[in-house]
Amino acid sequence: MDLGIRGKRGLVCAASKGLGRGCAEALAEAGVDLVINSRTEADITRTAKEIAAKYGVGVTPVAADITTDEGRARVLEAVGQADILVTNAGGPPPGDWRDWSRDDFIRALDANMLSAVALMQALVPGMMDRGWGRVVNITSQSVKSPIAALGLSNTARTGLTGFVAGMSRQVAGHGVCVNNILPGIHATDRAVSLDRGVMEKQGIDMETARRQRQAGIPTGTYGDPGDFGAACAFLCSQQAKFIVGQNLLLDGGALNATL
Ligand code: NAP
Repeated sequence: MDLGIRGKRGLVCAASKGLGRGCAEALAEAGVDLVINSRTEADITRTAKEIAAKYGVGVTPVAADITTDEGRARVLEAVGQADILVTNAGGPPPGDWRDWSRDDFIRALDANMLSAVALMQALVPGMMDRGWGRVVNITSQSVKSPIAALGLSNTARTGLTGFVAGMSRQVAGHGVCVNNILPGIHATDRAVSLDRGVMEKQGIDMETARRQRQAGIPTGTYGDPGDFGAACAFLCSQQAKFIVGQNLLLDGGALNATL
């Protein structure tokens, strides 16, 4: 399917690996010129070169922490105008609800709610002026089904979801579609680090920890970051123009719910 976005300009945050990279690759395959970001210079530079060489699009790397004002300013300067925005950042650490301080919550809100809000505030007005735009926020299955140890994530991402629910309906009349994708467990480094947490907590080996977590997913597998990216690229396509303010759960059926 031709997604109709060849020649568009996109920003994908936190994209040197994992889900962000999956999104960047799928958009590049659809012909989108990209600015991609993550903190580690060598990684983001290598990823940009690999994606540009594979898909023949322009890919500009920016090494910056997207959760800081200074980092976002540098990324936004490199982007200028964007037709497509994919927000993403590292997830908060696991823990116990009794232990989290105000500072822990503020850090999580900055990383997983307010950074995405600030990027939308910076780029969506231009999309509205030009009459076309797509935004995908990478959130988490924890928005629909809380994960006990990830209370900081549950909290911050639900806040972002509430913001998007309201603003997406205010910008849709200008050709801008804003949606969220909610990853369940995908085979990325983040999943490995959460496997390790289960291993340490239960005193089991990594293989057993992974099998235990996979057993809770009807597909019996972790998700593929490339498939995740393809779903993101579709939400950024011309054909997604009637999809507004939705929360697409990609979790292999893990959430046992009718709706
Ligand atoms: P990942 O494989 O660990 O990749 C994270 C990417 O984000 C890397 O490129 C990393 O590069 C970059 N990054 C992290 N913090 C950043 C920051 N402050 N500024 C800019 N770049 C940053 O993680 P993932 O699995 O793709 O997860 C992406 C998001 O989805 C996370 O928020 C995660 O919590 C959420 N999620 C993931 C899963 C899953 O199963 N994978 C499930 C639910 C939710 P640098 O370290 O070099 O910056």
